[in-house]
Amino acid sequence: MTQTTAGFGDSRTGCAETRLVISVNRILNVSMKSSTARAVSVHLCTLLILHLGSVMLHAATGLSRVNHVVVIGVDGLGSEGVRRVNPPNLARLRREGASTLNARAVMPTSSSPNWASMIMGAGPEFHGVTSNDWQPWKFDRAPTTVGSGGIFPTIFGALREQRTNAVIGVFHDWKDFGRLLETNSPNVLKHVKDAIETADTAIKYLRQNKPHFLFIHFDGVDHAGHAFGWTSVQYDKAVELTDSLIGAILDTFENSGLTEKTIVLVTADHGGKGMKHGGPSNEELEIPWIIKGPGVRSGLEIHSAVNTFDTAPTLAHVFGIKAPECWVGKPVLEAFADVAKPPARAD
Ligand SMILES: [Zn+2]
Repeated sequence: MTQTTAGFGDSRTGCAETRLVISVNRILNVSMKSSTARAVSVHLCTLLILHLGSVMLHAATGLSRVNHVVVIGVDGLGSEGVRRVNPPNLARLRREGASTLNARAVMPTSSSPNWASMIMGAGPEFHGVTSNDWQPWKFDRAPTTVGSGGIFPTIFGALREQRTNAVIGVFHDWKDFGRLLETNSPNVLKHVKDAIETADTAIKYLRQNKPHFLFIHFDGVDHAGHAFGWTSVQYDKAVELTDSLIGAILDTFENSGLTEKTIVLVTADHGGKGMKHGGPSNEELEIPWIIKGPGVRSGLEIHSAVNTFDTAPTLAHVFGIKAPECWVGKPVLEAFADVAKPPARAD
């Protein structure tokens, strides 16, 4: 496995600048023939200046130091459970990073539509993953856009296409997660049964490969909810166990000397009510969205509206890659230092 030393910020800005300069020059060569074309070239130069401004902003915000991103998705971890249990590692991430417990899942609050929305930057009406019965070849609604993997584009496909050397590892406790992304995009896409085994496998991979993008899915909290109820003692124990696994993963980043270059994002697909989920109640719809790392504000309670489909665009922002045009989510800019707070969405 290769390991690049330059941060995502270093490689991406150089690349984007070069492309833009080339396109401006190309148009400048043919532009002197008409005043309209001259106006176009002036406009493009203005865009270049604005782009350079955003590059400088990225450098100022510390995102240029980011070389690793880890997303930990906890199946069935509603915000109510986080509030009630307040487990130590999530509490620490919230103290040291930016977070909200008012982030929302999409409807229906079942697993596949929500994992899909999280990584596809859009809701089920766009990507077509409307239920757990969905398969890439079997669906009720066709996706509005089909990407390179034959499905609506995900953050994994977008990163692979724009950063061909990126090291990407995906470890999922729930088998069906693996069908929701471009299966050729990660270097490793592995279903590992059981949360502890999943953490263990991901930690070994992290130590050996220092991936740029590590995605870990845990399923134990959802299992406890379905078996014992979303407010049961067993559910709370599962939250505590998963939190300790998150702690072990964060310790591995620390012991590998990567913490200063790593963005951590912890979120969930949905919560639950009684012994199930799928409906529109707060207990089912509200999910935690917690981000920490260089360039992220510390101890910030995010007030802008966050939906799970904002996760992929936020990751694209962190990686410095272009979000596919079919995505409708927006990066959660409020979470990042030195970025003006965006207005709250009305939805
Ligand atoms: Zn789920």
